[in-house]
Amino acid sequence: MVTYLAKLGELTLKGSNLHEFEHLLMRNTKKCLAGIDAKVILHAGRMYITCDEKDSEKAEFTLNHILGITGWAKAETCEKTIEDIKKTVYMIAERLAEKGCKTFKIQAKRAEKNFPMNSYEICCEAAGDVEKLMKVDVHNPDCVIYVEVREQVYVYSDENVGCRGLPVGCSGKGLLLLSGGLDSPVAGYRMLRRGMKIECVYYHSYPYTSEEAQKKVEDLAQKLAYYGITVYLNVIPFTEVQMEIKKKAPEAWSTLMLRVCMMKVANILAARCKAQCIITGESLGQVASQTIENMNVTEHFAEFPLLRPLCGLDKEEIIDTANFIDTYETSILPYEDCCVLFSPKHPVLRGRIEDAEEIYKNLEVDELIQKSFDDRKIIKFTFSGEPDVRTDKEDPNEA
Ligand code: ATP
Ligand code: MG
Repeated sequence: MVTYLAKLGELTLKGSNLHEFEHLLMRNTKKCLAGIDAKVILHAGRMYITCDEKDSEKAEFTLNHILGITGWAKAETCEKTIEDIKKTVYMIAERLAEKGCKTFKIQAKRAEKNFPMNSYEICCEAAGDVEKLMKVDVHNPDCVIYVEVREQVYVYSDENVGCRGLPVGCSGKGLLLLSGGLDSPVAGYRMLRRGMKIECVYYHSYPYTSEEAQKKVEDLAQKLAYYGITVYLNVIPFTEVQMEIKKKAPEAWSTLMLRVCMMKVANILAARCKAQCIITGESLGQVASQTIENMNVTEHFAEFPLLRPLCGLDKEEIIDTANFIDTYETSILPYEDCCVLFSPKHPVLRGRIEDAEEIYKNLEVDELIQKSFDDRKIIKFTFSGEPDVRTDKEDPNEA
């Protein structure tokens, strides 16, 4: 058997409703571990997972993706005797010294007060042997070895960082506009990390955008499902709407009108899937459609609060997160996006809402927008990685 210990993150700052957040974290963790025989316990700001050695890969994958923990470690457990504690601490210290740590500190916690030594005495005793491997540095050590005396003793070090954030499901639900680019998956992750469940929508303009472009979005939705546990992707056939824009809108407005039409579909979908907001990967000033004026135009057509978690980030910061959540390599695959194909040479930079309303009215696309919604395909992605395609009107949200 192996035991993992995870440290809870921001949720520990909660007051009287703390247990609700803890419950959610436990429930999410158990969902991720479904199919393996694992025990999950939450106690005093820690979550313990015990499972069979053969399932450790799944447990570690879960710990690397679950939202709500600041860090985790494989913990060694031992008997409540100082001899056993010393042996176990030394074993972990050897591992850390091999990894290059030169200085250490031991931090002991005695939750079971019937243990005959206090925390300070445990630290001094256990540090003795370790000093043959590393030097003590209580202020700025390369590693910390923790000893927790509870019903048994847990010994571990700070080896892996967690995703932090809040457990998914504590902050309502948002509808994410997920394109194949770099930004929108990161925007989705940012909101998941605040505890928001997400459902995704992708506007597909076949044959102007290829099957590969859609496959790329599916891969990204799967990656988000490793954090979101269950993520639905709605694929909206958008070619007809887009052709209509091309035909009837002034060329300079085509991208902005496309955004407006995307919002129109998102309004219908958000209401259907009971989302409380719409999320995009826009970042101020990144491209012509993302000037503050043009963002205001898009927002004007949104019937839900429009959240743009990347608004104040620059590209490098977005790329760092894309690397962290492993979406970067997928996002940079070269399959074209519908917006690129139809992008005007000289897009409007400061669109006015009055003009946008007028142009939208002349498009007469309301019926086409409704049709694109009705013809959507829904794909369910889960943590376990087996997508489930619903080709007809089997909408999970109708149940
Ligand atoms: P991204 O990297 O997320 O594609 P981008 O920098 O390419 O963003 P735009 O193409 O202007 O920026 O898109 C802005 C936002 O609009 C995207 O972040 C996404 O939320 C949404 N969006 C754009 N195209 C699509 C699409 N085909 N399907 C769904 N959402 C889209
Ligand atoms: Mg894009």
